[in-house]
Amino acid sequence: MVSARAMNSLEPFEELESRVRSYVRAWPAVWSRAYGAALWDADGREYLDFFSGAGGLNYGHNPNAMMQALIRYLQAQGIVHSLDMATTAKRDFLRRFDEVILRPRGMSYKLMFPGPTGTNAVEAALKLARKVTGRQNVVSFSNAFHGMTLGALALSGNVVKRESAGIPLEHQITAPFDGELGSDVDTVSVLDAMLTDDSASVAAVIVETVQGEGGLHTADFGWLQRLSECCKRHDVLLIIDDIQAGCGRTGTFFSFEPAEIQPDLICLSKSISGSGLPMALTLIRPDLDIWAPGEHNGTFRGNNAAFVTATEALSWWVDNSLSCEVQRKAGIVHAELESIAVEHEALRATVRGRGLLQGLHTPIDGLASRIARQAFERGLLIETSGGAASDVVKLMPPLIIEDADLKRGLSILRASIEATAP
Ligand SMILES: *Cc1c(COP(=O)(O)O)cnc(C)c1O
Repeated sequence: MVSARAMNSLEPFEELESRVRSYVRAWPAVWSRAYGAALWDADGREYLDFFSGAGGLNYGHNPNAMMQALIRYLQAQGIVHSLDMATTAKRDFLRRFDEVILRPRGMSYKLMFPGPTGTNAVEAALKLARKVTGRQNVVSFSNAFHGMTLGALALSGNVVKRESAGIPLEHQITAPFDGELGSDVDTVSVLDAMLTDDSASVAAVIVETVQGEGGLHTADFGWLQRLSECCKRHDVLLIIDDIQAGCGRTGTFFSFEPAEIQPDLICLSKSISGSGLPMALTLIRPDLDIWAPGEHNGTFRGNNAAFVTATEALSWWVDNSLSCEVQRKAGIVHAELESIAVEHEALRATVRGRGLLQGLHTPIDGLASRIARQAFERGLLIETSGGAASDVVKLMPPLIIEDADLKRGLSILRASIEATAP
């Protein structure tokens, strides 16, 4: 008989898997099953998930309708792999995305399937922006994160991650994100001055509306509007990386909707398949779609299992009820975080983020990580954000979480803070 301890042993991972593994170090358990906002380890212990696969599981683990659609599709010998050939699964997704997401928002974009992960969507956007403009440099912001392949990595504000490249990362210029230079400096004016110099040769500006990995710094809607106008004025393309903040995470399908801007290129991934299966999209303003056939390709662009669940996931967006629910739950999270910050002055904490992508920043060295560790001991998965400093406790529950679970998670967080705080 295998003892319970042995079932949860990390030995095979330590012995056989590369040192590069990371989340398993923060949460040393062997996971065996998950549903909704709950995960069970191999010993049968239940955990509440305020991590949601880094934003890849906005609709929770194993969402019923999506999994049923997938099982039906596979049982009918539906095509699994198809490169970019036409399949019924892709056709259904294309039509549904246009019908449910684009047209109701007055948006017109071509859909590009760039390869299965977020960084693929970013690389495709960068290549196309450079091809369209004939210029080489791309502006990204302080604390940005856009993925780990070389083009996307060059846009990163995280020094440790940048150094992993082992070569110089070029053709990138850093601009200050909203608020980076204090509350009385409009950093768009800094960018404006940078772009006025034609020798900067800038093809595009890429931005996250909420910096998911870089500390939950949040762009003001007015700032996003001025950014969009600034890009137009200088004939530079605006790329919104909505890989983490999109797919409803901040309350609307696209995170930039409240700012009423129309980006030239939009990157989506993480929760676009709805089920945790890999899928990514680069949305292209139609007149910019000047790719030659096959100029950018990849073997796993036709992940039909993901298309099936992605099509089903869009059922959440036929009306605005999920959007209202996210905003209501975001209010609960915000109120609780504000109250923790006020009651625990010693944390010197401030609340950051928007929608169900909020967190608590504390400048006390190592504290956010200690809080996350305490939360794990108490049965809650919660990660930190903020680059090398890791100084933000980041809450990312599934959008569909029940109020009772949301409140239970918040009370575990509060208890973890009280057990850790100075
Ligand atoms: C996760 C993420 C990426 C990269 O996606 P991968 O699937 O990890 O390649 C890019 N941009 C943002 C904003 C992300 O959160």
